[in-house]
Amino acid sequence: MEELVARIKGFFPYMNPRSGQLELARLVYESVVGSKILLARYPVGFGKTAAALAGALASGVPRIVYLAHSKSQFQAPIREAARLVDRGVGLAVVTLTSKKDLCLFPRKLVTEMDYDRFARFCLLKRVSRECPYKDTIESLEVPQVLTVSLLRRLGREKQVCPYAVAWRALEKARIIIASYPYLFDLSLLNILVEKGRVNLSETLVIIDEAHNLPTFISDSLSSQLSESTIRSALREIQRFGGQGFLEIREALKSFLLLLDKKASEEGEEIPAEVFLEIAPPSTSLNLLAQAVEQKTGTVSAVWYVSEFISKVENMPGDTVLLALDEHGSKLFKIHFYNVSRIARKVFQSIRSAVLLSATLPPADYYTAVLGIEKDKLLEVTYPFAWGENVELTITRGISSRYVLRTGELYKRYARLIDAIFAEPESLHVLAVFPSYSFMMEVYPFLKARPRLMERHDTALDEILNFLLENRKGLVMIVAWGKFSEGVEFRALKKNLIDTIVIAGLPVPTPSPSNQRLLKTLKDATGDWKWAWNQVFLYPALMKTIQIIGRGIRSETDCIRVYLLDERAAEPEALGFFELYGIAPRVFPEN
Ligand code: SF4
Repeated sequence: MEELVARIKGFFPYMNPRSGQLELARLVYESVVGSKILLARYPVGFGKTAAALAGALASGVPRIVYLAHSKSQFQAPIREAARLVDRGVGLAVVTLTSKKDLCLFPRKLVTEMDYDRFARFCLLKRVSRECPYKDTIESLEVPQVLTVSLLRRLGREKQVCPYAVAWRALEKARIIIASYPYLFDLSLLNILVEKGRVNLSETLVIIDEAHNLPTFISDSLSSQLSESTIRSALREIQRFGGQGFLEIREALKSFLLLLDKKASEEGEEIPAEVFLEIAPPSTSLNLLAQAVEQKTGTVSAVWYVSEFISKVENMPGDTVLLALDEHGSKLFKIHFYNVSRIARKVFQSIRSAVLLSATLPPADYYTAVLGIEKDKLLEVTYPFAWGENVELTITRGISSRYVLRTGELYKRYARLIDAIFAEPESLHVLAVFPSYSFMMEVYPFLKARPRLMERHDTALDEILNFLLENRKGLVMIVAWGKFSEGVEFRALKKNLIDTIVIAGLPVPTPSPSNQRLLKTLKDATGDWKWAWNQVFLYPALMKTIQIIGRGIRSETDCIRVYLLDERAAEPEALGFFELYGIAPRVFPEN
């Protein structure tokens, strides 16, 4: 054991790792040796990345793929890998983000495009030879840690697309820091295997912020067509086709009418036949798009519409076409819900994986939603000291269940929030609602003043200023919005929130895709309650922990939390809170 600890220490980016970090590194090491999938619940600021990399490198596994979602998540593995190189550990590290992030055309032009549009843009620039950068490179001497900015610099120097540089460097890389689609979009995975020569059976995958993994996989395999793109396509046809293409124009107007009629916050399912019955043939749209692109030299909105129609024509059985209203923007979305079909293949092919996050649901969830074999899973939870700083009170006798939502229920929620706000200890109260529409229903009955409600364009600074300017105040946000995760209500080195009211368990909406997933899991197991827990309860509880985390940003922070929903007092939920060291008190509504 001492020998192993010494070996692991040799791969830590700094001299004196904490004992908890050494323990995590050892578990990662053992997961690789035993070909396991490790679920590791460790708090924010623990140093998970350094520990996971140390265990991985010590195990001798030939390839480590570190998956990160956002640009900020790429920073930690790059920083730790660079420190290791500085310590003299021989390593080649490549960052593999999307081609769009690496493109050398002006950032302003590229950033505004979504990925499909960018892919078309890149194709047009290459075919027309407007892109001056070569797409292959013969030989390459690269720094040991190849970041996005270095790739772009090398690309400019050598007049080669940085994406081609990244792929070339990949062959020799021990650590690949990549975005999710490289593993979970099977066409990109094939490229990774063939072009990057990655032998999956000898690869460890580390997934950061893994609580979001099902959503990330689903999002990266879903497509959408917005109302504004349809309108742009109509304008293009008007501009380049005059009064011609009447049928196509009428069809696009019918799309807009359909969106107007059907789009909702949860998403209304549109049978593919209904959509295709009014859609113009994607082939004729495609020809029209090419004509527009030849004239303008830029990506055509008509092309975008034609691509979406062809995707609907080829929709796999585990997707659903929805009409959605996202904060006032209407769109069609092909939503991929059967994440386990893809994830299972990936987890069966790789040698081992480590799923890292402060909030991970129980192992059962990963078997159900990601299709990971039960006997491959290992689970570890770091004793969450911060749980002791959370005073959680759960209220029985009230619930935000859909079937109970009436005017009277919204009034009761408003009364409870007002009562908590009136307590002398409540100075800065964060009220969190399960959805925007639920918040709007409660809002008129609330008496608490002053108050600030999250809007679509609310910025964090606005909330911080409100909290700093008012000795007492109520901030209202939505659980699945932008302020419930990854933000800090902190200023002048202190947390500004002292009380959180979760006004209804943030259960995901019973959207058609969630209903389909529920049915898939129920049919597979025959256990409706178990399936419901995986699709609705555990995501709601994870979201609850993340919301509570807004009140605890340092070891000295304490927070009072009122969870106004009796479903949180059920045994599965209480067991979940226990994982985080939280011991809730349960009281009736009055
Ligand atoms: S090939 Fe040209 S247009 Fe495409 S990503 Fe590279 S630099 Fe950008």
